[in-house]
Amino acid sequence: MLAILGTVVWAADVKSAPPKAVLSGKIVIQEGKPAQVETADHKTVLLDGDDDTRKILGDTRLNGFQVEARGHFTAPGHFLIDPIYTHHLLVRKDGKLKLITYWCNVCAIRAYTPGPCVCCQRETTLDLRDPDQPDPNQP
Ligand SMILES: [Zn+2]
Repeated sequence: MLAILGTVVWAADVKSAPPKAVLSGKIVIQEGKPAQVETADHKTVLLDGDDDTRKILGDTRLNGFQVEARGHFTAPGHFLIDPIYTHHLLVRKDGKLKLITYWCNVCAIRAYTPGPCVCCQRETTLDLRDPDQPDPNQP
């Protein structure tokens, strides 16, 4: 009986865990429109994510970049990016994948979402970083 229950739970787990996928292509971010990716085979995929990821997806400075997102498809043409702390939305620049970060050069504070600096409230600047590069602001 226990074995049977175990099997049922296991099967349910497999069913609820969507297969991981990597989506790459050109990101299109326009004011007031949901962010999307145009894949190399000219398909359009709408992007979604958690609240902080959505802030990045609303940053028109990223429009037109080649991106690579990790997550899974929730429906055909709908892609949910993994939570922001996993840094699974990367930008391809100069042939390398870069982290999307935001920098306040007044306070030397780095953030992972766009918007005013947490300290001085000035608008932060988009700063694409090499993920392997050590960051003095990150312990
Ligand atoms: Zn600041």
